[in-house]
Amino acid sequence: MHKHILYLLPVLLIGVFAFTASPEITTDHNHDHDHEFNHAKNDTVPDFPYKKTEAEWKEILTPTQYRILRKKGTEIPYTNEYFDNTEDGIYVCRGCGQELYDSNHKYKSGTGWPSFWKPLEDSLVVELEDRSFFMVRTEIVCSNCGGHLGHVFDDGPRPTGLRYCMNSAAMEFIARNKIPDSESN
Ligand SMILES: [Zn+2]
Repeated sequence: MHKHILYLLPVLLIGVFAFTASPEITTDHNHDHDHEFNHAKNDTVPDFPYKKTEAEWKEILTPTQYRILRKKGTEIPYTNEYFDNTEDGIYVCRGCGQELYDSNHKYKSGTGWPSFWKPLEDSLVVELEDRSFFMVRTEIVCSNCGGHLGHVFDDGPRPTGLRYCMNSAAMEFIARNKIPDSESN
C-alpha cells in the first residue's frame, strides 16, 4: 500500500504543477462574463442521485478511471486520450454516462488536458471548493454521480473567460453521429 502511494506521488505533483501552469494562448482578462465561482456555496458535498458502492465503482471503472473519478486524481498531460481530439461529438461521464461537454466548446488550451469554455449545460456539473495542495481551486464534478472531472479556472477564452480543465479518463467521447436519440443526426 505504501509503495503504491509513493509511486503515485510524482504523478500527482506533475499533475498539480501542470494544472496550475498558464495555458500558452493569450487570453483577455478584461472581458465581461456573468459567471461567478460559487464554490463557497458547495463547501459541503451535495448528495448525488447516481450512487454505487466502492466495490461497484471498482468493478465498472479501470484503475485509472477509479483513481481520477472517485479519488480525485489527475492524469498526466499530453499523453491522455482526448487532449488533442478535434472530432465532432460530445463527452459523457465515464462513471454514469451523463452528457457533460460538446466539442463545439472545446479549445486548444496548450495545457495537455481537454479544455472547454463551457459545459453543455451549467446544471450538468457542480463546482466544489478544493483546498488540496495548499491552494484554493474550484473542482468540477459530475452533477449526477459526483465523479471528479477536473477543475475550472478563469483564464479561458471568450465568451465565458472560463477554462474547464478536464481529465480524459473521467470522460468518454461519442462522435456526433453515434449519439443515441440525437436530434442533430
Ligand atoms: Zn457522472
